[in-house]
Amino acid sequence: MIHNAPFKSIVHKDLSIEGYSRAAVQTYWRIPELKIGFDLGGQPWDFMGTPTWFVSHAHLDHLAALPVYVARRRMMKMEPPTIYLPAHAIEPVERILKLFTRLDRGRMPCDLRPIAPGDEIELSREHVVTVSATKHTVPAMGFVVWERRRKLKAEYGQLSGEQIRDLRLGGTEVTEERRLPRVAYLGDSAPEGLDACPTMYQAQILIMEITFVAPSHRKDKIHKFGHIHLDDVVERQSRFANELVIASHFSTRYSSKRIRDLVERALPNMLDGRLQLWL
Ligand SMILES: [Zn+2]
Ligand SMILES: [Zn+2]
Repeated sequence: MIHNAPFKSIVHKDLSIEGYSRAAVQTYWRIPELKIGFDLGGQPWDFMGTPTWFVSHAHLDHLAALPVYVARRRMMKMEPPTIYLPAHAIEPVERILKLFTRLDRGRMPCDLRPIAPGDEIELSREHVVTVSATKHTVPAMGFVVWERRRKLKAEYGQLSGEQIRDLRLGGTEVTEERRLPRVAYLGDSAPEGLDACPTMYQAQILIMEITFVAPSHRKDKIHKFGHIHLDDVVERQSRFANELVIASHFSTRYSSKRIRDLVERALPNMLDGRLQLWL
């Protein structure tokens, strides 16, 4: 194993979350079981096998490793990856890849696809990703990964297997789709981005940013930069219905110990033990 970029991991039910995020340094997350990742601010060597990525916004600490990732997959003879990017970023990224090809003499095969808030992307028969707008200093998006299952419609619940089969053979749609939000990824955002997508509070796993934690860093200023302060989480603590909340993207102005101390002081029960700090 090559440890070129740090990451932590946690397993929750049937999903593993792997990643690392520090503001203005680098941000990358992936869920191997779903074969997707979020943000390409860095690229641990091990992450190259994940073929589909969603980039939340075009800040360098969320995007800089895109060419490296594309080139590695080509070098390792893997299929060209699919990378979803905010629409405005597609053309500049294509130009950047062309320039790297000129310097490096290596092709950069990849499928860049534009996304916008409201989009819905089918990952597979079982999984769909929805895109919501967040509030940041550049166009930015958050994502929810839904698991979908076909369930028998309630009105047919009392019927026998034979009756259901007959209905189905007669062309009646006896099932309907049910969706369960499994993972939400906020990306960078002021609290409005979280509030605008209530599913973020409902998803089993929420990966969110808390960039600022110190009382001396004022909330109003921070919101202008498009980030979340610990106080915002304290104000909203009753809304988090998630089974697991992973908080990351802390500012480099704080040591790990200071972050832990301030968060534990503000949220002594750590959202009933559901809040994990990734430092
Ligand atoms: Zn960031
Ligand atoms: Zn940013």
